[in-house]
Formats: sequence, C-alpha cells, structure tokens
Amino acid sequence: HAPAHFRALLEMSRFHGDKVFLAYEDEHLTFEEHFRRAATLSARLVEEYGVTKGDRVAVAMRNYPEWAISFSAVLAAGAIAVPLNAWWTEAELTYGVHDSGAKVLIADGERAVRLASTGVPMIVTRGEAPAGARAFDEVLGEVVADVKLPDVELSPEDPATIFYTSGTTGNPKGALGSHRNLGQSPMTVAYGLMRATALAGKDVAAAAGVRRVTLLTVPLFHVTGCFSALTTTMFSGGGLVLMYKWDPEQALRLIERERVTAMIGVPTNAWQLMSHPDFGKYDLSSLTTLGYGGAPAPPKLLERITQNLPDRAPSNGYGMTETTALAIGNGGADYQARPDSIGLPAAVVDVRVVDPSGAELPPGEVGELCVRGPNVILGYWNKPEATAQTFVGGWLHTGDLAKIDDEGFVYIVDRAKDMLIRGGENVYCAEVEAALFEHPAVDDTAVIGVPDDELGEEVGAVVRLAPGRTVTAEELQAFLANRIAKFKIPVHVWFREGELPRNPGGKILKTHLRREILGSA
Ligand code: ATP
Ligand code: MG
Repeated sequence: HAPAHFRALLEMSRFHGDKVFLAYEDEHLTFEEHFRRAATLSARLVEEYGVTKGDRVAVAMRNYPEWAISFSAVLAAGAIAVPLNAWWTEAELTYGVHDSGAKVLIADGERAVRLASTGVPMIVTRGEAPAGARAFDEVLGEVVADVKLPDVELSPEDPATIFYTSGTTGNPKGALGSHRNLGQSPMTVAYGLMRATALAGKDVAAAAGVRRVTLLTVPLFHVTGCFSALTTTMFSGGGLVLMYKWDPEQALRLIERERVTAMIGVPTNAWQLMSHPDFGKYDLSSLTTLGYGGAPAPPKLLERITQNLPDRAPSNGYGMTETTALAIGNGGADYQARPDSIGLPAAVVDVRVVDPSGAELPPGEVGELCVRGPNVILGYWNKPEATAQTFVGGWLHTGDLAKIDDEGFVYIVDRAKDMLIRGGENVYCAEVEAALFEHPAVDDTAVIGVPDDELGEEVGAVVRLAPGRTVTAEELQAFLANRIAKFKIPVHVWFREGELPRNPGGKILKTHLRREILGSA
C-alpha cells in the first residue's frame, strides 16, 4: 500500500543520506542516522511498549535531536505524537498527559522529574531516569543499518499529532492534526518562503531548498518549530540548527558558525537579535532569509531589518496551531509595500472574512478571519463543543479580526477577544499598539480595555520605555493625536520597568496584564 504521508516524508528524508540534518551544540546528526534511530525506536515502541495505531505518545523535552527522533518514531508506528510544552509546570504537564491519554512518555531529565507522578511508562534522555523509567539509549539498544519501519496501515485522514495551542486567550486546546496536514506542511511552508524570497530577488535554494540551513529560535513543540522548520527540512534536505533556549548572543554565534541561511522564529527574536550590543561583531553574511510569525510584527520591525540587515528577505507568516503553521504570508516587495499586512494566503489555502452571522464580507470590511484548506486540522481533541463552534462547514474560524483588500492582502486588525468597545466605538488594541510603537521612546506596549462606568470601557496602555528614554503620558497622547482618532487614544497610561508578561511564543498575556493592573481578567 502507498505509504501515508508522514512515513513518505521520513522515507524521503533518508535519501539525503550523510548530509547533516540536525545540529545541536557540538552534536551533528545526519539524515541517515536520524532515520535509523527513529525506525529503531519506533520498533521498540511497538514491541516493548505495545504501542499500536491511534495510541498517544507524548514527547516532552527541549529542542534536542531526540525530540525529532521521538516524533518520527511515534508517527512511524502509526501512533499520535503529543508534543508537550516544555515550559509547563508539573500541574500543566500532568494535564497534558491526562487530556491526551498518553500511553508512553518520552522526556528529557528536567521534564521527567515533573512527569514522574503521572505513573505513565517513561523513556528518558539528557538526564537521570526516575525510578521505573528507562534510559533512551538503553531502549534504543543496537541501531542497525537495515532497520525497517513497523508495518502499519495508515490513511491520510488518520490522526497524527496533538499540539496544544499557546493558551493566550484561555486554556490550551489539543489540536488534532492528520497525516495529510503533516504531509502538506513542507509544501505550504516552502511555497511561502520561496515566494517571499523570489519577491526579494534572493537565493531561493538558501531559503527553502537543499542549501537552506535554518536556525530555529522557537520550540519544536509549537507548530512553527515542528512544521515551518522540522518537517520542511526533512523535505528539502537542508540543515536545522537547534537551540536549548532563545538567547540572542548565542543566535549570533550560531549564524556565523553554522553559516545559517534562514532564521525562523517569532518577531521578538529578530528584534532582540538586532538590539544586541554585539550585533555588529558577527559575520551574518550567510543569512538571506528572516522568517517570523505567530504574533503581530510591528512595521517598525521591517524598517529595522531593512536598515540593519539590508538585502535580506524578511517574511511575516500568519498561522495557528489549527492551521499546521503557515496559512498566510507576506514577503519581499509585497511586504515592503504593505508592511502592516500578513500578506496573501499560502498555496492551497482559502481565506475569507465573515460577519457574526457567518456571511462573507466585501473587501475592506472588518470581520472574523476564516481559513480553509488541507492544512486545517481535524478538530480539537476531547472538545466536541469547541470543535463545533470553531470548525463550521469546512471553515476554521480563527478568532482573529481581519480585513482583506481588493488585491487579496490580509490585514489582522485584532484578536476578537482583545478588542474593546468604548462608548459604542470599536477600538482595536493592535492598532493603538502599532501607533505607540512608532514613538522612539516606546520599547514595548500593550493596550487593554479598562472598565468605565460611563463608556463601558476606556482605553489603557501599558508602556515599557526604551533604555535611557523618558516620556510623559501627555507627550504620548499628543504624539498619538496625529496618528489615530481621538477616541482611541489611551486615557490611562501605565509605565512599567520590567518585561511585559509574554508567553514564550512572544505573545503578550493580556489576561495576566489585566489581572495585574486592574485586579480582574
Ligand atoms: P490560544 O488559542 O490557546 O488562545 P494562541 O491563539 O495564541 O493561543 P497559537 O495557535 O499559537 O495559539 O497562535 C495563533 C494566533 O497567533 C493567531 O490566531 C493570531 O492571533 C496570532 N498570530 C499568528 N501569526 C500572526 C501574525 N503573523 N500576525 C499577527 N498575529 C499572528
Ligand atoms: Mg488560538
């Protein structure tokens, strides 16, 4: 029978042979080595742990090469891979294990400590295996050349992955992706990257082809890491450079040392890279592409890249856990012309904007963004109600407010949950934030609704100043008066010393902020 999509991808990746697939610190793993280890672990999961088709196996670790090996092994066995968020606490990890009903856990030492109380059989790498758990290398045993993938019948619609959403607006939901979603991902992502690069007149092979060496600055357990970087690299035959955690100086060093051609992460990563005091000391000439997404990218970021890293191809990708990473992307000349747009739908993706009744809106009008295509997941694991509300008639309702212009370019206006209504007028926090960002003293900002007796809600802004800068609330308000309508100007301004509460995906946690400042979520 024809191999299901992930197995096809894994088998394909083997043709890249002795080329380096994964680089982590001083370790380098080739495609062939990765294939052999993944296939061997897959066989052990089947033989020794009784893993069969449809079972869930959780992977809980930092960006180690074993993450990729484990992910591939689980999928090759026909089981569902459940990447767990490595930043989660013991309680959150336990939730993930119980929610997914994982039969086996593959964890690193740090996660193993937090997972031990679940009592689920565990395989542990990079650290001590707690009592009852087994060491990864011991389970793997001898890795031979003529290893075969376990024999399992799979169809493209079979579930392959459960990725948890970032939990920006509520509790994380398990997004159930199929083998088709996964098999589609390298094509969708490569298309987006190649389009952005071609539009910038740059080397397409360094962006998406065999010459691509990607520095991944975000975790593999979110879709950007797994699909925009990992599966795309398995397909293209490029290399993937992994980091234990984001660190701008380490990133600069790795770009120079590994001759990185493409950096993939969240907008904050690109911003912090350029802000580092040693930015100018490293040789970044290999870098041709900067891809970021997952959170709003202020136009100021593009401006700074154009100044500090001229002649590169920056691209802004919009995607969700529910869209298997990239769904809409902007790059090259398009991006320079419309720096506030997330661009055009990726190949094979349809988009539209609807009103609350579900009727499609004409160009220019703001409504909820909906996405359809082979990258849209099957639904939420264990959440029939949320699934029914979010996936309607083949369309994924994103929860993001957007508009589409005459040429099809999409603009994210705000998250529906973040928007506030001041005396009957809609205020999109993202628009106010973008205007604030234009002020040179503003390093970071978040706009929130403040309960108000008369107007229902008032506009409030939390501002973190750039080092060595000062500005008053009145000065900021005067600055905004030339940029946005009066009713959108924040009446309340709070200055803040430390970092804004962001989840590691770069997204500001407004519920935390509201609780901190207003004492209510
Ligand atoms: P949860 O669904 O649990 O509240 P989340 O929506 O943040 O968390 P993700 O799936 O990681 O979880 O993120 C998808 C969301 O990220 C999108 O719905 C959108 O709001 C935002 N986003 C992604 N890419 C971009 C982008 N390029 N520009 C603006 N916003 C983006
Ligand atoms: Mg979401």
